[in-house]
Amino acid sequence: MNTLLFLRITILILIIFTLISLFRIKEEFNRVTDESVVNFLRYPGEQKKCPHMTGNLASSNFTIPELGYTIKLCCSGCFNSILNGINNNQVYSIGEFNLDDIDDLEKYHLERNLEFSFPDLNQYLGRMTLYKNELPVQLLVS
Ligand SMILES: [Zn+2]
Repeated sequence: MNTLLFLRITILILIIFTLISLFRIKEEFNRVTDESVVNFLRYPGEQKKCPHMTGNLASSNFTIPELGYTIKLCCSGCFNSILNGINNNQVYSIGEFNLDDIDDLEKYHLERNLEFSFPDLNQYLGRMTLYKNELPVQLLVS
């Protein structure tokens, strides 16, 4: 094989791998790797588990300042972390539960191959919601 052809093929392979890894990084960015989204899908309207420390039951209510909506978490440390995230546009955000969220959750449910069936979420459309990396993790209570 001549050297020029070899070089061209090498460069082409490098470009392809770079594109694949960039795509992967973008995919990973929005992915929630802990159990917060799974907990949400398992108990959608219940505020059952803490979305920050996802192994803990949510036991205390906290009111989000200037919004008046209540979130249920395991402790005030988690509340501070979540408020910090919201205020700095990192990880956490608040918005209204919408049809795109249901699409994203369906994809997530399929990708993770979850053993329980997908819940009926249409009844929650329009509810104020806490998001973690753009995925719903808890419906807030007014
Ligand atoms: Zn906590």
